[in-house]
Amino acid sequence: MIRPIIIWPNPFLKTKSVAVDFDLDLYSDVANDMIDTMLHEGGVGLAAVQIGVGLRIITLNAGHGPEVWINPKIIRRSPEKERMPEGCLSLPGITEDGARNVWVDVVGYYVSGHLKGTHAVGLRAQVFAHEIEHLDGRMYVDKMEVGFKDRLRKRLKKGRGGF
Ligand SMILES: [Zn+2]
Repeated sequence: MIRPIIIWPNPFLKTKSVAVDFDLDLYSDVANDMIDTMLHEGGVGLAAVQIGVGLRIITLNAGHGPEVWINPKIIRRSPEKERMPEGCLSLPGITEDGARNVWVDVVGYYVSGHLKGTHAVGLRAQVFAHEIEHLDGRMYVDKMEVGFKDRLRKRLKKGRGGF
């Protein structure tokens, strides 16, 4: 089921998401809805908080097909960073350059509750970092200067999107 995406600066995006408890079943429906919503919106990644659910679930579609990661954690990062354009479904029409690690090693769980891990490179590494920041209530726009954010707020209110 496609769910509406929460748009910045809605304060819910600052929620610190809690770890999924595998004894409670509802998270698998959330994961399915996230995949549907991400693909419908043409996004490369989505965090549960963006559809109003404060659970540590992310989905990706960044070169390995649709992926679901429950309770994901970055355990290692490349020393090198690269600048690349970055967007967010909660900031429609906006792309900003940002520095991200070239690769990250991630551990997390399948929807089944089994452990998994991966070495993510390039866009996929960027998406992992971006989505896991969402789980901690952070967004890349938080790092930007106040004037930029004011302009952004006005643009989004007018429904025009990008700069
Ligand atoms: Zn985002």
